[in-house]
Amino acid sequence: MEEDIKVVSSDTETISCDGGEDGLGHPAVYYTFNNENKIVCGYCGKIFIKKED
Ligand SMILES: [Zn+2]
Repeated sequence: MEEDIKVVSSDTETISCDGGEDGLGHPAVYYTFNNENKIVCGYCGKIFIKKED
């Protein structure tokens, strides 16, 4: 399975994921970074990386 990685700006605290546009959509969910710099969506496996300055 191809990994989908999205890098977000360092001041982002909360991200949302709805599965993207490739037919793997799911209900929109929200995640907070909570001192981590990586979030993996529990629905679709998309990876969100917080960009460090
Ligand atoms: Zn997702």
